Amino acid sequence: MGVGTEGIDELLQDRLMIMVNDRSVNQVLPYIPTSTGGLVVTGADAPVRCRAIRNAFPETVVVMDHESHTRRAATADAPFGLKTAHGWRDLDPTELDEVLNGQRDNKASYAVTPTCFIPAEEAGGAPALGAVISQANHLRREDTVVLLPCNWRWLRRSSLPLMVEQIRACRHPVALILQAVGDPLACDQAAEGLRRLCRSCPRLVLWRTDLAAFDAMAHGALGAAVGVSAVLRHGVAPRPDNGGGDHKPYPVVLVRRLLRYHRVATLQDWFAHVDPWTCDCVVCKGEALTRFTDRGADVEAALQHSVCELYELHEELDATLAGHERTGWWRLQLADAWEHHRLLASRTGTEVSFPKVLHAWRRQSPSALPGAEEPRGQERSGPS
Ligand SMILES: [Zn+2]
Repeated sequence: MGVGTEGIDELLQDRLMIMVNDRSVNQVLPYIPTSTGGLVVTGADAPVRCRAIRNAFPETVVVMDHESHTRRAATADAPFGLKTAHGWRDLDPTELDEVLNGQRDNKASYAVTPTCFIPAEEAGGAPALGAVISQANHLRREDTVVLLPCNWRWLRRSSLPLMVEQIRACRHPVALILQAVGDPLACDQAAEGLRRLCRSCPRLVLWRTDLAAFDAMAHGALGAAVGVSAVLRHGVAPRPDNGGGDHKPYPVVLVRRLLRYHRVATLQDWFAHVDPWTCDCVVCKGEALTRFTDRGADVEAALQHSVCELYELHEELDATLAGHERTGWWRLQLADAWEHHRLLASRTGTEVSFPKVLHAWRRQSPSALPGAEEPRGQERSGPS
């Protein structure tokens, strides 16, 4: 499926994409629901993988992220660029258009701008952000999502109005990636700022994220993309040699009851003396979440389990109406997660800390910034 049969907003709306590198994409492909899911493929072979998947499964939504933001910071003169076989290349407006055409030629469902990393406002990021939006607005195309890979400080109260103004001025939908050392949403004001941004900008999707996808979609984001590996669950600071090395894989699983990813080793510690939690997804079929070793097949199964659990949760979100019903549903998930943290601690006799971001999500929702119509169904700040 691609832009052409329907508009780009319809392709993004309420869709949960999985972000995965070219090497792991075939492992998750069988678990991607056609109508509500899709793939964002990274890595040098993304164009080849995208084309192959779309040839075999034309109904599956597949796009690519060139990850220019992991290698270079954007400037007002060169907001877009690309790592090629011959080294780094800044892209002028014509070349940018050619790169986007190249993605569509490789059958990407829609094009994604190869935006470089946007530093915080106080680090000189404002002219770079302005250049990204203004150059993108000159593109004569309706099939493109503008990627905004930003430092998390853009979510603070002092910078948020400028970010909202720029995203609202964009002719295209915007995919936001947040970078921090550690979890961007655990940073001061970030979780609240993101909610406010989602409520204020109706054509925003959150990318390269984790369970924050659900908090964003509950607060008006059009859609989201969750990473399969830790490095694809938040932005990274740009470095010319990023994307080269492979880490030794160890199994990490989404523990749906806790709304959080954990290393299997952590679960094994918790459940050393009591029966472990089991999972009923199609991969686990009732088996224990502690069973995954660091063998390749287990790391792969752990990844597939996490994708299945994400889509189970997404199916519930998708069944709610955007607005108060959806924020109400999310609020219940958060209350359950709090309760499961408490139960886990008392049952295992171990210390299980309630993550900072879950605390932030249990707070009252902020309202939109004034100046534009509210996103779908998000009238006023609801009881969330
Ligand atoms: Zn499972």
